Amino acid sequence: MHLTHLACTACGKEHDAHVPQNLCKTCGKPLFAHYDLAAAAQTFTKDALRTRVKSLWRYREVLPVKNEADIVTLGEGWTPLLPAPRLGAKHGLKKLFIKDEAQNPTGSFKARGMTAAVSMARQFGLKKLAVPSAGNAAGALAAYAARAGMEAHIFMPRDTPRANVIECEQMGAHVTLIDGLITDCGAEVAKRKAAEGWFDVSTLKEPYRAEGKKTLGYELAEQLDWTLPDVILYPTGGGTGLIGMWKAFDEMERLGWIGAKRPRMFTVQATGCQPIVRAFESGEKFAAEHVGAHTRASGLRVPKAIGDFIMLDALRASGGGAIAVTDEEMISCTKEVGATEGIFPAPEGAACYAALKTLLAAGTVRPDEAIVLFNTSTGLKYLECYGG
Ligand SMILES: *Cc1c(COP(=O)(O)O)cnc(C)c1O
Ligand SMILES: [Zn+2]
Repeated sequence: MHLTHLACTACGKEHDAHVPQNLCKTCGKPLFAHYDLAAAAQTFTKDALRTRVKSLWRYREVLPVKNEADIVTLGEGWTPLLPAPRLGAKHGLKKLFIKDEAQNPTGSFKARGMTAAVSMARQFGLKKLAVPSAGNAAGALAAYAARAGMEAHIFMPRDTPRANVIECEQMGAHVTLIDGLITDCGAEVAKRKAAEGWFDVSTLKEPYRAEGKKTLGYELAEQLDWTLPDVILYPTGGGTGLIGMWKAFDEMERLGWIGAKRPRMFTVQATGCQPIVRAFESGEKFAAEHVGAHTRASGLRVPKAIGDFIMLDALRASGGGAIAVTDEEMISCTKEVGATEGIFPAPEGAACYAALKTLLAAGTVRPDEAIVLFNTSTGLKYLECYGG
């Protein structure tokens, strides 16, 4: 609502926020939305939030859409931050939480990004949106585009979970399956978009999905009574959620809502696709493509991320890290989380619990700390992993 302009995350060049934008026109890196936070603060107070809508649109002043009428919503966000006492007790943890993003429309946290991107597309009068997706972004785009009466053109790897393909088809999207990875799907969108008149809503190549995702950071703070956890474990593909949360923490500090202390942020990836883990460990600023990427956690099957340097900066500045777990660990941890807490997590969510065990064993995370695991989707979308 108080959006002023977009600025490049790498070179700082300003871009007009009144027209559709993708990447920086000078250097090709992602753009961030900037707000007049002083103006926002007139109505955006902790107190005012008490009576607001129970969706992420409660943070309206720091979201980009100008007019209420352009908001395309299915009730996304404001998901529960569930204490996980039984799972925690196994490791002597007192303050373990699961942010249960499976409770979003379309069963994953991709709904957060897409509600913002599709609302902005409506504000700009766009009619045809395209996305390369490992699965859940596709389902979310299909849903929000249908709700807005727009076309969704979706490109997914052929081995994407069946649930993602079926949900897109049933919500009227145009679905193309590609023999390759999400990067190959992205290349296909890039090649065809000009001729087809599609607007590309690829993660971080479109500036507003990150705005929707940043509400994760606002929610964590609000749900913990304006404190932040000590440790966050986040299953990372393109990294929009991690980058978004980091941005939200900065905004909240400038609003005077929190102090300078940050959680230690940990990226969790699969051993079969761990570009950020490798770059973090070798001290690189950018992450080389992970050649031959494979993992059943489709959301983590992102061999190359355009926001790599933003993520790596945040991980380092937070004093956190990056850790890879095997598919076998994810699958066995799924049942452990499921049978202990009644949450059937996506493999990506289970990966965070697997990573936590490693961090506890290494002493990197202490049992007395407040720890948040992100369950980014529901296990119901991944029945193939369990013989379904
Ligand atoms: C997309 C996705 C991720 C990765 O999210 P990013 O913010 O792109 O890093 C993790 N888990 C699931 C289930 C996903 O769909
Ligand atoms: Zn730039």
